[in-house]
Amino acid sequence: MPIVPTAGQPTPDRSPDGALLSVDALSVAYRGGAIRALEDVSLCVRHGEIVVLLGANGAGKTTTLRAVTGLLGIHGGAVTQGEIRFDGHVSTRSTPWANVKRGIGLVMEGRRVFSELSVEDNLRAGGHVTRDRAEFRRNYAQVMELFPRLTQRRSVSAGLLSGGEQQMLAIGRALMQSPRLLLLDEPSLGLAPLVVEQIRQIIVEINKAGTGVVLIEQNAMMALSIADHAYVLENRRVAREGTGAQLLADDSIRDLYLGLGDEGRRSYRVRPRAGAAGTTP
Ligand code: ATP
Repeated sequence: MPIVPTAGQPTPDRSPDGALLSVDALSVAYRGGAIRALEDVSLCVRHGEIVVLLGANGAGKTTTLRAVTGLLGIHGGAVTQGEIRFDGHVSTRSTPWANVKRGIGLVMEGRRVFSELSVEDNLRAGGHVTRDRAEFRRNYAQVMELFPRLTQRRSVSAGLLSGGEQQMLAIGRALMQSPRLLLLDEPSLGLAPLVVEQIRQIIVEINKAGTGVVLIEQNAMMALSIADHAYVLENRRVAREGTGAQLLADDSIRDLYLGLGDEGRRSYRVRPRAGAAGTTP
């Protein structure tokens, strides 16, 4: 299926040269090839970008993150074709540990915090990747600054936190690993609108501080409002791509993934970014 640029506007140059992450013609299958989950998927994340993956259930979004983090094997999957590069180095079959050490952080769907451990100990667990005490302390201070709520609750067991607080803790734990690229799988799932807005602002803050972001979101409106670029996966392939603004303006995307009328579309304003193509002021 050809990739369709959206809304009649030229798609900005997406050359993977010099990209933070590039995925080139990637195919993935589970169960020894019995279940094909990705076919010929190419995408890239350039330095400093927020890139969104949209798509219906089963389209292959989570599989893409598993491939990038090296977690496919744990789930019975394998790359059958293609290449992944992180910061210029081929990482197609790197281990999860090697990927973490290179700077790829993952916040999995479902807020997987250690519920018996305190907030502080969850963050320490995230920080065990770094042996540098100064870096650990710097990361810890940054997480506390980013999430004042966690500061107040740092001795509380994670299992007693609200859903929103657990999501903040899951993100904070990943930030303790000093990621250069943060992958977020459905961070707003099941959260109240006010909390979703907080999570949105936090993602923007993290990105402003220099961390690239890949975001999978069922709340497509929220995700596109902060996306530098977005890819739509359909039936295991990239079917469309464009800037967040382009996809928000695309009626077929709205009908398929946003499920909202014009009122809903107006509820999130596209984040203005200096020099970013396709965004509204
Ligand atoms: P969702 O939004 O429902 O999580 P998704 O876009 O993230 O969907 P994936 O979870 O990546 O999609 O699934 C892509 C395909 O791979 C689907 O057909 C799914 O059933 C299959 N799949 C995912 N994980 C496994 C697994 N561990 N074993 C076998 N098949 C799997």
